[in-house]
Amino acid sequence: MTTQTPDPDQWIDFDRQHVWHPYSAIGADLPVYPVESAQGVRIRLSDGRELIDGMSSWWCAIHGYNHPEMNRALERQLQVMAHVMFGGLTHRPAVELAERLIALTPAPLQTVFFADSGSVAVEVAMKMAIQYWQARGKTSKQRFLTIRRGYHGDTFGAMSVCDPVTGMHSLFADLLARQLFVDSPGCRFGEPCSDAQIQPFEQQLAAHHGQIAAVILEPIVQGAGGMYFYSADYLQRVRALCDRYGVLLILDEIATGFGRTGRLFACEHAGVSADIMCLGKSMTGGYLTLAATLTTEAVSRTISSGEPGLFMHGPTFMANPLACSAGLASIRLLLDSPWQERVQRIELGLQRGLAPCRELAHVADVRVLGAIGVVELKQPVVMSQIQPRFVEAGVWVRPFGRLVYLMPPYIISAEDLDTLTRSVECVVAKLV
Ligand SMILES: *Cc1c(COP(=O)(O)O)cnc(C)c1O
Repeated sequence: MTTQTPDPDQWIDFDRQHVWHPYSAIGADLPVYPVESAQGVRIRLSDGRELIDGMSSWWCAIHGYNHPEMNRALERQLQVMAHVMFGGLTHRPAVELAERLIALTPAPLQTVFFADSGSVAVEVAMKMAIQYWQARGKTSKQRFLTIRRGYHGDTFGAMSVCDPVTGMHSLFADLLARQLFVDSPGCRFGEPCSDAQIQPFEQQLAAHHGQIAAVILEPIVQGAGGMYFYSADYLQRVRALCDRYGVLLILDEIATGFGRTGRLFACEHAGVSADIMCLGKSMTGGYLTLAATLTTEAVSRTISSGEPGLFMHGPTFMANPLACSAGLASIRLLLDSPWQERVQRIELGLQRGLAPCRELAHVADVRVLGAIGVVELKQPVVMSQIQPRFVEAGVWVRPFGRLVYLMPPYIISAEDLDTLTRSVECVVAKLV
């Protein structure tokens, strides 16, 4: 038998014609770079070039790539079992990970549903909220209130609570549930939230709480919907209003969880806790897809004692043992590391390194929180132009719309971080 190394040009051409990428078009003339391997904070392309990773593969790879301890944990689990169904069976990796998540998350969360992706964790959260009210006889509470510029995933339930404009709700209008929206908070992170700024939110709750099962929000950091950081005071007021009007609060920490904002969970900035919380992305250190929906004893018991006496969801790959082992290893690595100092050092590096972008005429805003740095432009980037420039600069940065942003692995060195921020400054400065 002969093994052939396919000509990279050929398989890249096949990719272009036959393989979908996230938010992509088949046959589009946009660059897609073949990756050979990844190590630490470096992504190695087939042509031998190495790129410093500024994205953590969309929030996930917090320990960098090909980490020996992560690899060992997965290899160990692989020797035992890769997968077994979760209906009627259980295993240590799932139970230990659940224990860990319950211990780490703010107090009242006591039960864990393991889902296979962030979007599914959001679907599960929404179904939990509806089943909770159903079990309490409040059958009209089936809608959700959220803020604009949010992002909660790409499945239909999750899409219905994404920003209606950037989420292109008009395309799917007949099938999408119609939810309630208020404008994204006007008060930024670090600022107080005035009565006037919370008023639109309170008005919606006051008018519609009889139909609202839950409020769903990304706490503090709105991610893919706009990379915007809002006031902790706003989130506190949301929590209080949810209690006052008898509405559950779902916090989507899929992007923000596990230290990215400088706290283990972003809701800690406001000292609030959720009735239902979604986790995902960095939970497995970027190794495997796994998400979790946590909820309180009150919600779990109420659902379980109501009709039909079951929670109506159960993915085939629920609590996959390999993924759970990756979760355990990633959390152990994180907690054993000086992650607060690392994130704080990255925050300072991003503030210092991105500050010069503020002087550029076509830059609208520069903001940094924890290990997230954002340069917001006045005009959307042209991907076919900007992407090759970052690659030529030796960095992996993937802008979207008007946003050029960095969220590097926590292990990045000061020198590599400096290269990242300099490249952003250079590339952004040359845009016209
Ligand atoms: C990425 C993301 C999701 C969706 O997660 P997937 O794993 O891509 O399905 C949901 N909510 C937030 C806040 C996210 O950042």
